[in-house]
Amino acid sequence: MNIILLGPPGAGKGTQSRRLMDRYNLRQLSTGDMLRDARSFGTEVGELVSASMDAGEFVTDDIVISLIEHEISGSSKGGFIFDGFPRTLGQASALDNLLKRTKNCLDAVIEIQVNDGDLVQRITGRYSCSKCGEVYHETDSPFDQSDKCKKCDSSNLIKRADDNASSLSIRLMEYYKKTSPLIGYYYAKGILSSVNGLLDIDIVEKNIIKILEN
Ligand code: AMP
Repeated sequence: MNIILLGPPGAGKGTQSRRLMDRYNLRQLSTGDMLRDARSFGTEVGELVSASMDAGEFVTDDIVISLIEHEISGSSKGGFIFDGFPRTLGQASALDNLLKRTKNCLDAVIEIQVNDGDLVQRITGRYSCSKCGEVYHETDSPFDQSDKCKKCDSSNLIKRADDNASSLSIRLMEYYKKTSPLIGYYYAKGILSSVNGLLDIDIVEKNIIKILEN
């Protein structure tokens, strides 16, 4: 099974991806995580990636597509869950070609809907575990008093540099301009479904599972 989770920053794509990955034995491909790794390489590409990410802008399609191409040619277990990719029509079309080349197809595209006001609150209070990726929120879903991750016990809980209100407004504009046209793209292919991302995390997960198992 190959699935895309679509939605603005802070919609819960990462959280839901990790849950679905465990349930269906999928490999999570998060271009955000891959790019955060790439920026630390100290190469020319790493510098370009850093500059775009720090500005809240998208990294160029050719860089992102080559990262995905490299990963897709590796093992897929039961399939892939794409988290934060594709983000442009160019990336969507490249993914179609890559999947066709490996004799695969997309089974579902799930749009997680959250309004802008809630995204600001979610993003500015967001922390995550640098070891296992578990996401916390300073008021809604706090880590325990020992400042340790409840899932893996790591004490390395971090706040992303781009998780602030000014970067978020640019990231949201990028989403509406370049990513939201993908909703029409996948609707026309008959594989788009939407869930309300404002509900409790467990309910959002159940609603996604219902769509996937229907
Ligand atoms: P994320 O972790 O998915 O919120 O992504 C963090 C940042 O990485 C984004 O604000 C972009 O700068 C960059 N990024 C992640 N995925 C993509 C993509 N598919 N295309 C372009 N830029 C991306």
